[in-house]
Amino acid sequence: MKQFTVTKNIKLTHDVYEIHFETESPIDMDYGQFVTFILPGIGGRSYSVLESVWNTIKLIIKKVELSDSGRWGSIFICDSQVWDILQWVGPAGHFVLQRNDKNKLFIGTGTGLVPLYNQILWINKLDIQCKSKMLFWIRRENDLFYIDELNSLAENDNFSYEVYTSREKVWDYHEGYVTLYLTEENIKDFEEFYICGMPAMVDACVEKLTELWVNTESIFSEKYT
Ligand SMILES: Cc1cc2nc3c(=O)[nH]c(=O)nc-3n(C[C@H](O)[C@H](O)[C@H](O)COP(=O)(O)OP(=O)(O)OC[C@H]3O[C@@H](n4cnc5c(N)ncnc54)[C@H](O)[C@@H]3O)c2cc1C
Repeated sequence: MKQFTVTKNIKLTHDVYEIHFETESPIDMDYGQFVTFILPGIGGRSYSVLESVWNTIKLIIKKVELSDSGRWGSIFICDSQVWDILQWVGPAGHFVLQRNDKNKLFIGTGTGLVPLYNQILWINKLDIQCKSKMLFWIRRENDLFYIDELNSLAENDNFSYEVYTSREKVWDYHEGYVTLYLTEENIKDFEEFYICGMPAMVDACVEKLTELWVNTESIFSEKYT
């Protein structure tokens, strides 16, 4: 098992934190993979990698506050302080960017944005020539994070994004679930689909895409359970 030292902990929204870590040796990972913390008295909790450079890693974690059955892994990590040390294994996972020029549609709910953001960064770094678009679903405006970063990615003509809010109407954003976007007309230019986040949203998107005759081999997904 390896060790991560917390180097920064930034509160992005009322319940989402960006946490930076450093480890002893370079991290070798594919784009979209996750690391797993082994937390004392709690067990393993996996988190997708937002960015990794050499021996550093950035994660974005939602603090899941539950009244009853929670086992508190996310609270443990989100409450960590600079210099705290956590045990981890990985990286691992099959939800990875396909290195080809096919146009890609990314769909994320909440912190499901994390591996998608990593994959979009790498489309640019690897100079992959494809069009890509991100659909970002949140409940309310105060759940929104990384909008400046998405705007900065959107300075590249090959990338665009849309935000969907399901629990309130927000100026400039679409009201409703991301599945509203999934029509034959809207998806006709995309050849690959990357979906990440809460299981119900992932299932709903996959169902809608298969109804629209998208080949299941072109759909890549990761469920946060
Ligand atoms: C491959 C993988 C990658 C993941 N990457 C991330 C990530 O980058 N960021 C992140 O915040 N979480 C991520 N998760 C979820 C994370 O592993 C934990 O499940 C989550 O932090 C809850 O753990 P807990 O111990 O606090 O609560 P638990 O008691 O284990 O779970 C409580 C409930 O919270 C639900 N839950 C899990 N994740 C969320 C969420 N994001 N929002 C709302 N409810 C949730 C679970 O379905 C469960 O019903 C990932 C999960 C997997 C399998």
